[in-house]
Amino acid sequence: MKSNIKDLDSQELEDWLGARREAPYRVKQIQKWLFQKGAGSFAEMTNLSSGLRADLEREYSIGRLKTLQRSCSRDGTIKFLFELADAVSIESVLIPEAKRLTLCVSTQAGCGFGCAFCATALMGLKRNLSASEIVEQILEVRRSLPADMRITHAVLMGMGEPLANYRQTVKAVRIMSDADWGIGISPRRITLSTVGLVPQIKKLIAETHVNLAISLHATTDEIRSQLMPVNRKYPLAELMDCCRSLPLPKRRRITFEYVMLQGINHSAEDARRLSGLLNGIRAKINLIPFNPHPGSSYRRPGPEELLQFQNALRSLGHQVNVREARGDDIQAACGQLLGAVSSETASSEQSGMEVASHSSLLTAHS
Ligand code: SF4
Repeated sequence: MKSNIKDLDSQELEDWLGARREAPYRVKQIQKWLFQKGAGSFAEMTNLSSGLRADLEREYSIGRLKTLQRSCSRDGTIKFLFELADAVSIESVLIPEAKRLTLCVSTQAGCGFGCAFCATALMGLKRNLSASEIVEQILEVRRSLPADMRITHAVLMGMGEPLANYRQTVKAVRIMSDADWGIGISPRRITLSTVGLVPQIKKLIAETHVNLAISLHATTDEIRSQLMPVNRKYPLAELMDCCRSLPLPKRRRITFEYVMLQGINHSAEDARRLSGLLNGIRAKINLIPFNPHPGSSYRRPGPEELLQFQNALRSLGHQVNVREARGDDIQAACGQLLGAVSSETASSEQSGMEVASHSSLLTAHS
């Protein structure tokens, strides 16, 4: 099988072109065709010589994802089920809000981290995605949008742990964020969510300018290790020390995601402990009422308990948001992504559709 040209970084493409005595400026010409104009074939790249186009065709594929299903929620959220070249499937979720259009992107097919509250964990890890497969989720969704709509934000919070697929994820982030030849979503509008892989978090902040979100979900090692096995490797003290030491740009905050599980992690004592853990960190807290999925025994707390926890954190001086469930009727909300064709959707269509209008986040990894 030919390799996908979108997996080459600028240097690799320049080296390939150099071996054919082609000028370095060709790199950007090709990248603009791929990431800005969304070319589906080398034949479309009319500013390249026919000889170069033939060489490209011989050696590389452009590769697109196949849309297996698109499910539309009554709240305007749209879940895309994509098939990869080896028939593995992944999901992306498009979340329209008043002034933004956010795409939640997957970085792995399935996930091997086994978080107890997450549907994706039930799949286990099938494989890492390549940079092209990560980026192609944005390109494919973009192709389905009307001309006056554009994806304004990207969140790496879909299926998988992005930092467990570090190299391909960072390569994809470069393509997403480059305004000159890439997709052009500002890094300030890209958020990467991680369960807390300490060495990779430090590397990520040194190498990119994306926003960081940490899936915290508990205030003691005992509970967090039950919910998230990764905590045994990187316990709370080590994770929070890492967050405290990160050289964040001015006015940036780290988002701490906190899924609220009935009777498990939202006591007054939890609020105090959470506040203590965040001491010395520029932080904001996203509370996510648990989104049920088949096979899960967890429940979400009632609205009053949620409000109590939120108020307790606010009174301790924290910025707290409650993340509304989006797309829960189509299993597209946080922790619900399963990578399978579903039948119980509000409106479900099999491949080849266009998003008709701006009808009005998020998903597995939160
Ligand atoms: S929450 Fe994220 S890291 Fe944990 S199992 Fe789900 S996808 Fe994997």
